[in-house]
Amino acid sequence: MNTHPTSGTTEAYIALGANLGDREATLMEALARLDAHSKIEVLRCSRLYETDPVGYLDQPCFLNMTAALRTALGPEELLVVMQQIELELGRERKIRYGPRTVDLDLLWVEGQEIDTPLLTLPHPRMMERAFVLVPLADIVAEEESSGLYRRTQEALTSMDGKEGVRFWKICNWRSESGLTEN
Ligand code: ADP
Ligand code: MG
Repeated sequence: MNTHPTSGTTEAYIALGANLGDREATLMEALARLDAHSKIEVLRCSRLYETDPVGYLDQPCFLNMTAALRTALGPEELLVVMQQIELELGRERKIRYGPRTVDLDLLWVEGQEIDTPLLTLPHPRMMERAFVLVPLADIVAEEESSGLYRRTQEALTSMDGKEGVRFWKICNWRSESGLTEN
């Protein structure tokens, strides 16, 4: 049984993407594994979007989504957990920006600005990527105090390439996975 933390925790936003294999099942499994961690709770997830590849074009379309987490882990520890799940679920990643079974990026962590070789926060490319911002706008609350909501909306307004991000379906991982926390 997953005993979720209630104090000493921070909110974090992540982006998930997949373009090989059963993309939806892989993303749902990644969410389930994050939530199964004793120090991570998945609070909300965005809708699923099908997106045209960016950068390296000769590859299948991606499914992309974002999720809001609550965690008692520090940012570096959270990234290590995410990378472990990538390794468990995804064994094919040969080209940077190329096809991958699953990609988990840490976008933003409450109160954290970091720039080390292992981790940059906020994620340096998030505000340029429609496949991140469109799903992020689904889950960032308007009353969120850090300015992330405003910056997300502003970046989206002036952004090209939004037509490459198409609503695909509602995400119902919690009901599908049979998890009924709270
Ligand atoms: P990409 O997602 O850019 O295609 P990777 O997922 O392979 O590439 O990530 C490359 C490196 O980026 C990782 O080794 C990780 O340490 C580093 N990194 C720096 N900041 C972040 C972040 N905010 N989220 C995820 N990875 C990050
Ligand atoms: Mg990544």
